[in-house]
Formats: sequence, structure tokens, C-alpha cells
Amino acid sequence: MNNKANPSIGCTVQQCVHHCQKEEYCSLDKIMVGTHEANPTMDQCTDCMSFQVKQ
Ligand code: SF4
Repeated sequence: MNNKANPSIGCTVQQCVHHCQKEEYCSLDKIMVGTHEANPTMDQCTDCMSFQVKQ
């Protein structure tokens, strides 16, 4: 697991393998954000496509 915080990517999803566990940041250099909606209208319509569940 990479625990190095990337201060440019804030994240609270502690269940993700890429989450920096000590602070509310992602540890990746970049992420991909997408949507599962045809016409997204609110933040709940967007997803982090780089999410991988922590085993
Ligand atoms: S990959 Fe996405 S969900 Fe996972 S820690 Fe990074 S920003 Fe959060």
C-alpha cells in the first residue's frame, strides 16, 4: 500500500486501497473521475473510477 498523501487529491474514502490512511488524501499521482449517469446534475452522479476496494 502506498501511504504517501497527494495534497492535490482530497478523499475521504478509507475503504479504497489508494487512500492515504493517516490524512484525508488520495495517494495516487492522478485519478480518473467519471459518471454513471447520462446527464449528471449533482455531485452524487460522479464517481472515482480509480477506486479499488481494500482487501
Ligand atoms: S482512488 Fe479515488 S476513491 Fe481511491 S483514494 Fe484515490 S480519490 Fe479516493
